[in-house]
Formats: sequence, structure tokens, C-alpha cells
Amino acid sequence: MLTYQTDLIWHNGSLIERDEATDHHINHSQHYGGGVFEGIRFYDTPQWPKIFRLKEHIQRFFYSAKVVGIVLPYTEEELINACIKTVAENKISQWYIRPIAYFGKWKMGIYPHIDQLQTQVFISVWKRGKYLSEEPITVKIAKIRRIHPATSDMKAKISGHYANSIQVSLETRNDWYDEWLLLDTDWYIAEWPWENIFFINDNTICTPAEGTILPGITRATVIQLFKDTYWLSVEERMIHPDELPDFTEAFFVWTAAEVTPIWSITTQDGIVYTYQWSWDKQKYSQQMKKLYQNIVTGNVESYHSWLW
Ligand code: PMP
Repeated sequence: MLTYQTDLIWHNGSLIERDEATDHHINHSQHYGGGVFEGIRFYDTPQWPKIFRLKEHIQRFFYSAKVVGIVLPYTEEELINACIKTVAENKISQWYIRPIAYFGKWKMGIYPHIDQLQTQVFISVWKRGKYLSEEPITVKIAKIRRIHPATSDMKAKISGHYANSIQVSLETRNDWYDEWLLLDTDWYIAEWPWENIFFINDNTICTPAEGTILPGITRATVIQLFKDTYWLSVEERMIHPDELPDFTEAFFVWTAAEVTPIWSITTQDGIVYTYQWSWDKQKYSQQMKKLYQNIVTGNVESYHSWLW
């Protein structure tokens, strides 16, 4: 739940009052879903405040924009500085940054008349509570499938992709599970509508390969940390739900909720697989959760280069 939106919003180069950051409803992206956005976190660190992997998020923002034909009239460095400035001027020490870019008003028709539409870029800073509990969570496989990679570039964070996620949230609204897992159209495990997933079988770690997933920055971070900390390389491959009984641990990752161990996964047929080892402080899920938390809050010097 969005609990607090800050006073100043960056819009096309200037910081303006929140209530002035409005736009006309006749804009191409609102009608056709061609906006692009990022979700970034910043933390209260000993060098207060610092933004985690800002460069990678801004690089993905540029990539997503290119996929739908949005021309961002800024350099990467300018948008990095815009995020830093928006955080600093709003004077809050931690939480969430949401850059969004879309095609400006008046021109309709599916082909985006790039040269005639002024790109709109907004950066807002939000303060929110914890997304997920501190305890391992319960998960169910949803009926709706993840969008097929032949239909759109899944590496891009495009607003329109989230129509799929919205429908999952409606499908699952009255159930009591904490989270939902999407299969792809070939029945392989893809991701949660907002998160990537990892599975562990003793000392073998795997995660769904690129294709139907948004390859998250947290996912890349965790793959790197397995390599650096345990000398383990994560297998990026197709994972079928038939493998669920073989795994000893599972966890979700994404920027906002970080590393979240999974207690159980329930299939559409009601079969429940539990990963009770996720509770155990000695196990990878809990260790990774702790390590990630220490890194983002600036307590591991060797990863300070990830903090901006
Ligand atoms: N998959 C989807 C569909 C997402 O929207 C997100 C981000 N919310 C992720 C995975 C995780 O990406 P990141 O680690 O970059 O936040």
C-alpha cells in the first residue's frame, strides 16, 4: 500500500510540486500501454541515503524505452543525477523511486509518432511499508499464464505487460496465499507477476532462464552473490513444476521485497510442497536474505560500488 508520496516530483528536468505533476488523459501510452518504468530502492546507510544499483535500473529504463520507441531526451548520467536529486530534495532517507516515461499528449493511432510526441519523464519518490512478511511466505500457482516472449520483449519493463499481472491479482484476490507464481504457456515456471524465483536442491541453485521473465536486477545481484560468497554458479534453465518436490528451498527476489524465502507452493490441483528449510538460519535462503540486507544498507564495503 502506498502510504506516503513526497512533495516534489521531477518532471522533464525540473522538480515541481506533487499536485502540479499531472497530465492530459489523451496520451498514447495511457491508451495503449506503451509507457516504461522502473522500481528502485534507496536505503538509510551509514553514508545516508544511498540508491541501490541505480545505474543498472537506469540502463534498463533506456532499454525498455527503446523497445517501445520512446526517445528519452536525457543521458543516463542526467537521469541518474535526477534520481539522486529527487531523493535529496524530498529529504527522506529510505524507500522507493519510480521513474516513468511515456509518449506525450494528443497523437493517437498505434504507430507512435515519435518525432511529434514530447516524451514525458516523471520521477517520484514513495515511502511504503514492508511488502511481504518477514516470515517465509505461502505461494500458489495461478491459472493465468505469463505473456509469451514471442508476443513482446520480456526484458523490457513496459506498462502494458502489467495488464497480465493485474489479471493475476484479480484472479487471486479472495485467496489467502501471500503470493502467486505464473507458469509460461508451455507449463514451465516463469515468475511471480513482480518477482523472480530461485530454487535450491542441496547445493544446486537454479532460476528460470530468460525468456518469459523480466530478468530482474535483484536476480542478477543474487546470482553474483552466490558466485562470490559460495563459489556456486546458478543454473539458468527451464524449470518444470514436476521438479517442485525435489527442491529443498525456494525464495522470491525483487527490488521492493528483496529476498523472501518461500514456505510452501501449492499447485492448481491443491498439492502442497513445503520448503520448511527456508526457516533455518543456516540455509541459503536465510543467509542470502541477510547478506542482501547488509549490502543494500551499506554494511559490506566490498559492494559499496552498487550504492549511489
Ligand atoms: N519480474 C517482474 C515482472 C517485475 O515486475 C519485477 C520488478 N518488479 C521483477 C521481476 C524483479 O525485478 P527487479 O529485481 O529488477 O526489481
